[in-house]
Amino acid sequence: MDAYGVVGNPINHSKSPKIHHLFAEQLGHQISYSKIESSLEDFTQTIELFFTKGGKGLNITLPFKEAAFKLSDSYGQSAENSQAVNTLSFSEDGRIYGESTDGLGLLKDLENNDIYLEGKEVLLLGSGGAARSVIPSLHQKDIAGLTVCNRTKEKAIKIKEDFIHLREINVLDGLSLKNHYDIVINATSANLSNEAPEINPNVFDGSVCYDMGYTYGDTFFLNWAKKFNPSICLQGWGMLVEQAAESFYIWRGVRPDTEEIILRLQKETEN
Ligand code: NDP
Repeated sequence: MDAYGVVGNPINHSKSPKIHHLFAEQLGHQISYSKIESSLEDFTQTIELFFTKGGKGLNITLPFKEAAFKLSDSYGQSAENSQAVNTLSFSEDGRIYGESTDGLGLLKDLENNDIYLEGKEVLLLGSGGAARSVIPSLHQKDIAGLTVCNRTKEKAIKIKEDFIHLREINVLDGLSLKNHYDIVINATSANLSNEAPEINPNVFDGSVCYDMGYTYGDTFFLNWAKKFNPSICLQGWGMLVEQAAESFYIWRGVRPDTEEIILRLQKETEN
């Protein structure tokens, strides 16, 4: 049986094993998929051990996406553009291949929900691996403007510098943000500590509010944002399934039907 897994810290909350098992069931594949906790010090060793034991592929989640990029020997286009990796596999020559499927996952989920980015002013909160991963995809959609805001401003400035070849990015402090953006995307992990980023709450007025985080019921972020009059609120379940489907395709050459799986997860989250 082919072995896959997801490496992160914390990792207990991960729904990736469930999603990949549902994909495998849908397609009649036999796979195992486990959660693997690591630390930054042990990260390279964790990956090498998994592949040495015959593992076929790994998803990488917070906070290791940038470390996974550095560890990869070769890259797909999205990983190269974003310098972050969420999908690792052994390439045929025995080297580690890294790709990022987060950007595509976000675009697909927005489109599934009839949200179109062309000509929109986008605010991206956060500057970790997930924020990096989605910038090339946002750019590809001809957005009108992109503002990045992060608790640690230096990391947002680094993003601006790293993507300068691609597009102009505004970097602003949370309290200096404008009173409205067409789409606000939360790519911070603040939900994990039941906190909201320290920003001007008027950014949400009339906006599409998208939280990459996901939970049963509302996320902490959405619960807070809803007080400030957003037009639509979405959380990251759809993105999670769509990015997972792209990973599955990289590993196994078949793309699962995501609609069925998203509906199934949505039903569970409502109960
Ligand atoms: P990283 O650890 O790489 O980055 C975390 C980011 O969150 C940093 O910018 C950090 O700021 C910021 N942050 C953390 N705590 C706070 C806080 N209390 N207030 C404000 N900012 C904070 O994580 P990732 O980028 O990999 O993931 C970010 C989130 O996106 C996670 O919740 C993850 O689950 C979600 N995600 C969801 C996906 C999906 O498919 N739905 C796919 C990918 C990610 P600083 O630089 O100051 O530390």
